[in-house]
Amino acid sequence: MPIPRDNSAPLRTLLLVLAGVAPVVSFFLLGHGVLVAIAPLFLSHMLLLYPTLVANSQWLGPVFTSFETSAREVWITIDDGPSPAHTLRMLDVLQQFDARATFFVIGESAEKHPHLITEILTRGHSLANHTHTHPSRTFWCASARRIRREIDGCAEQLRSTPERPAQFFRAPAGMKNFFVHPALARRGLALVGWTVRGLDTVKQDAARVAERIEKRARPGAIILLHEAHHTDTHPEFQPLCLELTLQRLAARGYAFVIPRPEQLRR
Ligand SMILES: [Zn+2]
Repeated sequence: MPIPRDNSAPLRTLLLVLAGVAPVVSFFLLGHGVLVAIAPLFLSHMLLLYPTLVANSQWLGPVFTSFETSAREVWITIDDGPSPAHTLRMLDVLQQFDARATFFVIGESAEKHPHLITEILTRGHSLANHTHTHPSRTFWCASARRIRREIDGCAEQLRSTPERPAQFFRAPAGMKNFFVHPALARRGLALVGWTVRGLDTVKQDAARVAERIEKRARPGAIILLHEAHHTDTHPEFQPLCLELTLQRLAARGYAFVIPRPEQLRR
């Protein structure tokens, strides 16, 4: 199952060359005042930071934000598990709506709770890579070596087989840097973003989360929800967000499917 090609290498190179040339240009502009001199440095850094920090930016390589379909269907993706507090309940909710979903799991959590990984697969859902330790504050500035370790550590937990390959990756908080796409390409992984996120890690009201998703949903949408958050203070919240979302979308005639990699679109 081929993943749409990554043709962003020239743009990646251009951004790196600009970052390399900027200090030299700044040096020669020093005679024109400090502000003029730092302008090229500032600009080149902004050009690097933008695609790194803006989750669905395509500058560094393809980030898939929807999938092609002629049917009324969406892809439910659930990040940050597996979680003893949530996974089994999420699976029951999915079953209630005859929904299939992809769990973007954290390798460390998968290692701790192998029975939940078994349960996800047994119930017909799929697993995807969401790094080994979920370094959401530092992944964007991680070295190439660390990024490879994060991807490979999680991949080991996904029980990938030729019949059931785990081909999708999502960066923590959607942030990626120059080293991420080349590492993914070598492993045959596609970087998946989202069409609509419920903001269920920050919002307090599950009905609002579901309403936000319903408003933005369309055929081929990738929907981002989470588990494993607020497990002490509000353990009902994230399963409820999933339930209300599926309720609203099912009422509008949507089916919940897992797309094939070749259906992915930027
Ligand atoms: Zn995450």
